Amino acid sequence: MKRSQRRIVMLAMLGILVTGALVGVATAWPLYQAHRQGLETITLVSASAQADSLEHLLARYRDVARQFTSRTQIRLYLERYARQAVERDALVAFTTPRLVDAMLQSSDLVGLVRLGPGGHPLVTIGRTPEPLPGPTLAAAASTGSTQLVQQEEGMLLEVAAPILSRDSQRIGTDVLYFSPQAMAGVLADASRFGEGARQWLLGTPDATLLAVDSQGVVTLAEAGERLAAGQGEVQAGGPAGLTREGGWWGDTVMVHAPLATPGWGLLVKIPARSFYGMVFHELLWPVVMVLVLMTLGAFATVRTISPLLSRITDQAGRLSRSVNFDPLTGLPNRNYLNQRLAVALEVAEEADGELAVLFLDLDHFKDINDSLGHPLGDRLLQAVGQRLFRVVRDMDALGRLGGDEFLLVMEHLHEPADAGRVAQKLIDALLQPFDIDQHEIFIGASIGISLYPRDGRSAEELIQHADTAMYGAKALKRNTWKFFTPELGEASRERFAMDTGLRRALDRNELVLHYQPQARVEGNSVFGAEALVRWTTPEGEVIGPGRFIALAEEGGLIHAIGRWVLSEACHQARQWELRGLPLRVSVNLSGLQVVQGDIVGDVRAALHQSGLSPARLELEITEGFVIGHADEGLERLHGLRRLGVELAVDDFGTGYSSLSYLKRLPVQCLKIDQSFIADVPGDPDDETIVAAILSIADRLGLDVIAEGVESAGQLDFLRSLGCPAYQGDYLSPPLTAEQFALRWGGGGLAREA
Ligand code: C2E
Ligand code: MG
Ligand code: MG
Repeated sequence: MKRSQRRIVMLAMLGILVTGALVGVATAWPLYQAHRQGLETITLVSASAQADSLEHLLARYRDVARQFTSRTQIRLYLERYARQAVERDALVAFTTPRLVDAMLQSSDLVGLVRLGPGGHPLVTIGRTPEPLPGPTLAAAASTGSTQLVQQEEGMLLEVAAPILSRDSQRIGTDVLYFSPQAMAGVLADASRFGEGARQWLLGTPDATLLAVDSQGVVTLAEAGERLAAGQGEVQAGGPAGLTREGGWWGDTVMVHAPLATPGWGLLVKIPARSFYGMVFHELLWPVVMVLVLMTLGAFATVRTISPLLSRITDQAGRLSRSVNFDPLTGLPNRNYLNQRLAVALEVAEEADGELAVLFLDLDHFKDINDSLGHPLGDRLLQAVGQRLFRVVRDMDALGRLGGDEFLLVMEHLHEPADAGRVAQKLIDALLQPFDIDQHEIFIGASIGISLYPRDGRSAEELIQHADTAMYGAKALKRNTWKFFTPELGEASRERFAMDTGLRRALDRNELVLHYQPQARVEGNSVFGAEALVRWTTPEGEVIGPGRFIALAEEGGLIHAIGRWVLSEACHQARQWELRGLPLRVSVNLSGLQVVQGDIVGDVRAALHQSGLSPARLELEITEGFVIGHADEGLERLHGLRRLGVELAVDDFGTGYSSLSYLKRLPVQCLKIDQSFIADVPGDPDDETIVAAILSIADRLGLDVIAEGVESAGQLDFLRSLGCPAYQGDYLSPPLTAEQFALRWGGGGLAREA
């Protein structure tokens, strides 16, 4: 996956998770709220129930107190004491045992103080507070006024009740002290809570149940304990409620429920964390499950999306690559180069700058491709592309137009000469041989340069002119570069015109064969004729093959022309034969005909249609083609040989064919190239070469024809070396068929030339 793709997938995943989290929170929040409210309500209800129980207890204690104050005998005695009818000692002696008896009936009651009419203690029994209650309490005490009293030994619950005379005069106060145990018991008795509350409260280990009186003195459920500072402010009275204290979340939750006893309430103090933690705990799993499912969903989505995504991006990438890049070399293609050049032109126009277009064409690439095969040709193009790429600057656009054509756009040119320097660098880069598949391949290049704005203003024009300049360079010599000139443009237009004309030439019967006789050196008897094609244009101009064969090869016309030449030459030879002129005709083959077309079929057809016997046909293949031709080509040569035709190597000596290779070829004849004949006798090198070729042919058992013999001296020299046959202007230049028949027709064959 590429970086951009990874980024998209990450974003998709993040999106899904964030959406999931939002959905999770949006679902969980109301759930949490509902749970929380439910919890608070249950807790409040439970606390109120608890408060009821506590109230129940307090009411019982007040009852006990009332029973004490209403005991008739003791009360009457006190009435008498109030009227000062009885001595205090007598009162105490009378009252104490009776009160002790009564006290024994209530197990929670641990102490008692009976205050007299002035509020002074008269009788004290059991556990009583220190100091003893006095007139203040006596004055305040209404029936059942209840409060907690903190003692050193612990907490006591104080219940005071006024003692009234029969005529409702206040004559004293009973103050009863209960142990807080029973109260603690009630508070601790969680079974009185509803099942839900019990669970909440018991499940909350830090929950504390407190009873609060009007002074904020508090009894813990289990043991007496003062309320921490500040918490006393939670007033005992008021309606039942729940308050959160401290911080955003609240440190503590206070639940308070009022008791009927004035100033009394029940306070439940629970750490918020554990209280609401329950809610979280309940929601944890559902939320975790949601998130897990969400994550799984995200992964599943990503797993489905990412291959899809990479397929799409791959396709897009491939599309843009195929649209803009050459799949073979990876370099920009014609399409991209055109766009790039168009942009570069805009920039140059705006900045009043110059730019150069370099058109590079490999020399002889076709030969290599044809002879070594296309796969190797492709590899060579790749290697060439790499080498060229290393030479150019980053800012320059190098691309392949197709075939063996490369284009370089050089922007921001300082001076035209720079383009020339780069062209030379490109050529130099290709000088070292390429090593491909153990083949050492030498390949050169020709480069044409056009300049903006001098040679053109449009991309099309500049590329075309660079192309023209490249042809100009190629015509000069290989491995060279050339700037475009108007004269080159003219030549190019001619070539174009020629190409168009040549395409029509076949249909219009403008092609004609001339025949050059071939004779034995000894005896000078003519035994054959080489067919050489000519093109007579409608304007009457006769154009030689040197000017149009290469063009025909480039345009693919060579196959049609080649077939025509074969058929025409065979017919002519057959005509001569029928008229008593039995000659062997030699036909030149282009390498392309051998490698690309069905040469064996073509030759067979030509022989068949003309009725010429195969032995009367010789086919010439150039040494240049022979040197590196692929096995497939070799197989076809064998196929031709099997037809019974003869094969000759044309222009022998100009290439570097190895002798062992020559031996494998099914050829019968070597044609010594005319360049070696031109300077003999006289040039020792050429003399040696001619002698060497003759001796090689002799060893290999091959026939030899020397080409381009123009003088008697040359012929004598050849004769002195034992060269068997020759052709050339000395014997006769190429002639039309009629001229040929006129000169050698009838019995002319046996005649000396
Ligand atoms: P080539 O096969 O080596 O043909 C010999 C060339 O040398 C001919 O040129 C011929 O006119 C020329 N010549 C003959 N005698 C002399 C001489 O004494 N002195 C000099 N200086 N030249 C002489 P031409 O006809 O212009 O053909 C040139 C080449 O074109 C041929 O070279 C051959 O390779 C090619 N060619 C000609 N006809 C055909 C054809 O039908 N098919 C193909 N594929 N190639 C052809
Ligand atoms: Mg020839
Ligand atoms: Mg030749």
